[in-house]
Parts: sequence; C-alpha cells; structure tokens
Amino acid sequence: KQYTADEIRTIVKQENVQFLRLMFTDINGIIKNVEVPISQLEKVLNNKITMDGSSIDGFVRIEESDMLLFPDLSTWMIFPWGSEHGKVARIICSVHMTDGTPFAGDPRNNLVRVVEKMQAAGFSSFNIGPEPEFFLFKMDENGRPTTTLNDKGSYFDLAPLDLGENCRRDIVLELEKMGFEVEASHHEVAPGQHEVDFKYANALEAADNIQTFKLVVKTIARKHGLYATFMPKPLHGINGSGMHMNMSLFRGQENAFYDAKGDGQLSDTALHFLAGLLDHARALTAINNPIVNSYKRLVPGFEAPVYIAWSGKNRSPLIRVPSGRGVSTRLEMRSVDPSANPYLSIAAMLTAGLDGIAEKLQPEEAVDRNIYRMAPAERLANHIQDLPSTLHNALKYLENDEVVQGALGDHLYHSFLDSKNVEWAAYRQQVSEWEREQYLELY
Ligand code: ADP
Ligand code: GLU
Ligand code: MG
Ligand code: MG
Repeated sequence: KQYTADEIRTIVKQENVQFLRLMFTDINGIIKNVEVPISQLEKVLNNKITMDGSSIDGFVRIEESDMLLFPDLSTWMIFPWGSEHGKVARIICSVHMTDGTPFAGDPRNNLVRVVEKMQAAGFSSFNIGPEPEFFLFKMDENGRPTTTLNDKGSYFDLAPLDLGENCRRDIVLELEKMGFEVEASHHEVAPGQHEVDFKYANALEAADNIQTFKLVVKTIARKHGLYATFMPKPLHGINGSGMHMNMSLFRGQENAFYDAKGDGQLSDTALHFLAGLLDHARALTAINNPIVNSYKRLVPGFEAPVYIAWSGKNRSPLIRVPSGRGVSTRLEMRSVDPSANPYLSIAAMLTAGLDGIAEKLQPEEAVDRNIYRMAPAERLANHIQDLPSTLHNALKYLENDEVVQGALGDHLYHSFLDSKNVEWAAYRQQVSEWEREQYLELY
C-alpha cells in the first residue's frame, strides 16, 4: 500500500508506535538498521536522516561518508511482536547522496534502475516467487547456535518427529500478521530443515519480502530457543538450503511467458528469457551463490543443481519449468541460495533474461533425464556444461560477462568483486580438519 506521510503520522498516534527501524541492505545482503525514537518522525518523512556510509561494507570511503536515508513509505509495517516500550515499526529505505541523488552502491537503488530498463523493453513487472529453505539448530546455554539439529524429521513429516513444527507455525502466523500471503510451509528433506513459500510479488517488493522474511524467521526461532540459519550448506552429507526463484514477466495482467499455441505452451519471450539465463548461468552463479560455502551445496546428489540445463519435469537441472500455465507460467531457477543478496540476484537474472530476449537467444533442447546419472561424455554430447565449482571460478566467469556486470553497475560490480576476492583469498589460506584427517598421518 502506498501510504502518505499524513496517514503514517495518524497510525503512529493510534498504534502508539515508539520506535522506527530504518532498514536497508548492504552488498553482502545483510540487513542494516538505523533505529530512531518516534520524536524523529518528521526528519524521517522529510528524508533528513543521515548515516555514516563508510562503516557499511561496499558503500563509500571515509572522505564521502555522509549519506541520507529516503524512506519508501509503501514499505511501512508495524512489527507484530511487542516491546514493553511501545510498538516498533519499520520502513525500508533507499540510500542517497547528500545532494539527493540515489547512491549507485545501494543494491535496492540498483534494482530500481534495472526494473526501469525492463519497463523500457515493454514489460510491466518481473514477478518473483522465492522458496527459501533454512535450518533450525539448538542453542547452547549462552544463546549461541550449535550444530545440533532440533529434530530427525524429513520431507512432509508430521509431529512428533517434526519438533520445528510449532516454531514454523509461529513464523507463518507472524508473517500473515505482517501481510505476507503464505502459500505453503513444510519440513524439508534434511532433518531440521524447513521451507516457507509466500506469494510472488514484483521484483522490488519480492526482494524486500525476502529480507523481512529472514528477519522474522530468525526472531521467532529465537523465541523458541532455536537458531535459524540461511547458510547454504551447514552440514556435510545432507541437503543444503536453496532459495529457488520462480519468475515470470508480465504485461499488465497478462503473463508474457504463456502462449496457448507455443511449444509446451511457452511463449517465444519465455524461451528467449530462459536462453538468456542459461547463456549467462556461470557469471550469474557468482551473484546467486556468493559465499565460499555456497559451492559445498552445488554438488551432485542433494537436489541442488550442478549442470547447466533445463527441464519440464526433472529436478536435477538448473532451470525447471513448473507445470502451471496461464498466469502461473514461470521458470524456476534452482541454483540460487539464501546467502544471495536478493536485490542483486533479481537484478542479475532479470538482466540476463532481457539480454536473451533482445538477442533472440534460443535454448538448447530440454533434458528430461536425471543428469546426475549421465556420464561426462553423454553430457558433452548434449551440450551440458557444469556450473562453476568454486567461488573463485564463478568470479572468473563474472569478470568475462559484461551483461551481468552491467546488471550491477560499476560501483556495485567493483565492490562486489573486490570483497569476494578478499573472501576467497582468506579461505584459500585455511587448513581444514578434513585435510589433517586425510594427510597428517599419511605423509
Ligand atoms: P515447487 O513446485 O518448487 O514446490 P511451489 O509451488 O512450492 O514450487 O512454489 C511456487 C512459487 O511460485 C510460489 O512462491 C508462487 O507464488 C510462485 N509463483 C506462482 N506463479 C508465479 C508466476 N507467474 N511468477 C512467479 N512466481 C510465481
Ligand atoms: N534443498 C534443495 C536445494 O538445495 C532443494 C529441495 C527441493 O527441491 O525443494 O536446492
Ligand atoms: Mg524446497
Ligand atoms: Mg522449488
């Protein structure tokens, strides 16, 4: 809903809102908060709240550190969980320079920029339906997360095996109070692993929703004495956590991916978009799987994709075309994991898809067999390439893909690349327990 400043002033009085949380997201996808008492409301509404950008990863240098927070009033929301000191509301903000121009290093501003390009290409919205997965771990007596799972449940299990059930129900109830339309929630394949799916929304709102979702899940889990993590692969040997992204382009009410007479009832637009995603898949991986740990998930045998291919049926390829047609015609990108910055990930996939449309790219044939079981020669014969196997390799592909770089813009691209190279360099120097177990006595 698009609130006016006056409506917000009224709600603040009626609901006894005492604190405002001004939220934005850094380059690593981490939510940042500036909390102000309600006495600052006028300053907030007049875009006058300043913050120090030099303390935020990927923002600016010390010499240009002052930045302004511009609230997006349509994101106004009162947190349903109480505080003894009155209610707390949040507004998602975009970051601006002191002269008022949007800051190019703000991932949210960048997504707005990319969405405008999409509109110039003749589409009205890019709809995203995310499927975030997460683990619930027990906490120790100091309130720190352990790696002890809280249940032994599995896919669609019911209580009493699924001890996370009460916690998950609470999460769903809180989300609904906050205006989310939750479509499904279930125990995932791995013990202690859960998924909550909520209704698709246009690109910007969907990215905002993902950030809010993570905050709600972590907050409610804590109330149940559990720690919720969106780390892609917390435990070896069992499934990791993905965040499949369902996507479609709309023109007004009409789904541009649907064509009743098309091959498989998919439009040419859908096929070009799909081809764009496949064509840029390796560079996209750097953005969709941005941490060292992401690549521990992208291995065969755990329902996460490893190969660049698409299918209408099978869950092993990178992109699946779910069976829904008409308004629910969509592509499901299965590589994305919940460590991805949703603003960057959505901007990058939209840009790759639009490039496919602009260049009229055609996808390879669909692969309807289990690719995990194919021999390398068979994959080669079917033109099936691998996804990058490490963050380092993914970054190399990003460095060679100007389209995906363009999806981030200069500032974000360079900050992203620099900070990820530092992360990789730090990881490369570590000696792990696995290595000592393998080699210490052997050599
Ligand atoms: P799966 O088949 O992988 O289990 P789900 O049915 O659980 O998928 O998830 C469906 C997701 O796709 C939901 O978030 C839903 O809102 C979303 N979705 C449905 N139609 C569209 C569409 N046209 N564009 C984008 N997302 C869509
Ligand atoms: N957890 C799997 C992944 O890593 C996905 C399971 C599913 O298909 O829902 O992507
Ligand atoms: Mg799932
Ligand atoms: Mg899915």
